[in-house]
Amino acid sequence: MSSFESLGLAPALLKALAAEGYTTPTPIQEQAIEPALAGRDVQGIAQTGTGKTAAFALPILQRLAAQRKPTVRGGCRVLVLAPTRELASQIAESFRVYGKFIGVRVITMFGGVPKGKQARAIAGGVDVLVATPGRLIDHMQDRTVRLDTTEVLVLDEADHMLDLGFIIPIRRIVATIPASRQTMFFSATMPKEIASLAQTMLRDPVHVAVAPAATTAERVDQHVIFVEGAAKRVILFDLLAEVATGRTLVFTKTKHGADKVVKYLEENGMPAAAIHGNKSQPQRERALHQFRTGELRVLIATDIAARGIDVDGVSHVINFDLPNVPESYVHRIGRTARAGATGVAISFCSGEERPFLKGIEKLTRQRVPVMTAPGRIAKAA
Ligand code: AMP
Repeated sequence: MSSFESLGLAPALLKALAAEGYTTPTPIQEQAIEPALAGRDVQGIAQTGTGKTAAFALPILQRLAAQRKPTVRGGCRVLVLAPTRELASQIAESFRVYGKFIGVRVITMFGGVPKGKQARAIAGGVDVLVATPGRLIDHMQDRTVRLDTTEVLVLDEADHMLDLGFIIPIRRIVATIPASRQTMFFSATMPKEIASLAQTMLRDPVHVAVAPAATTAERVDQHVIFVEGAAKRVILFDLLAEVATGRTLVFTKTKHGADKVVKYLEENGMPAAAIHGNKSQPQRERALHQFRTGELRVLIATDIAARGIDVDGVSHVINFDLPNVPESYVHRIGRTARAGATGVAISFCSGEERPFLKGIEKLTRQRVPVMTAPGRIAKAA
């Protein structure tokens, strides 16, 4: 097994990793760090939870530290593109954490925050700019940002960018970055459109890939409870009240559904919060912060809002509704059992949702064991 030292990382980074309690590189880090340090382009297939952020952030920080350069007005040395503001914030935070003994200037740019503030933040130039494509294009049009001094480009969650309609903005952004750059491209899946985007952006990349969906699912202890619509919330409450669930992420199909679950739990005296697209940026940040610090044990989310949520120590994932796309199920349950830990996933399945369960079992090539409902429903039966 390799160590961070043997991958060639500098002492300032090793110290930061030790402070974070990381002892061994994850598989994607083992594969990507050395070639990235050598300046190679990287094309990675990896989902959130695999340690991919450190896989690109560490070599980038090392290269920044090795060749210090004055920043250029309105410019950056490293540009990271991410599909959502949550993911962008987390990536920026990772750069700050891993780079704390190096001293790097990292900023974010995404919608929902005044443009003027972001323009001032980049005015003197920065080392690392983490942005969502839409807001970055706005700044390029305002001429508050220039990308012609960018040395390294990272595209994260490319397949999600495609879902959100960001491919054309990305092509416009990339066109203004020098071809001599180093590029790292990450995606959980590699559909045709993404593969062709990668081909136009990368030069002779090293291909790295980690555990396909089925393997991730094997690490999570999964259960299904057969339950019809109206009883779901009662079972959820009983599960949360009676089973020793730790930090719990609950997924619903819709934003409205998420709000209804929060309302029910709160009416029954259990604090909870929801994050979804209708919540303001401060609301989402507050909920995530409370969840991260443990002030809130239960967070309700929709798939879109949950993509890129990076919270360690999630002990339980509860699928209040089953997703109709089996890959989403694997994404969801991957929120627990991160970086080698084990976790529990409990899914509620109504008669209507049975076909979704079948699709999930086919994708993960395993049966989800049936669990009896806890609490009042079980007693009534
Ligand atoms: P990511 O896939 O980048 O979202 O990372 C998933 C989680 O694993 C993050 O919370 C990281 O803090 C954590 N992590 C990343 N690399 C390691 C490592 N080598 N050892 C332990 N935890 C890690």
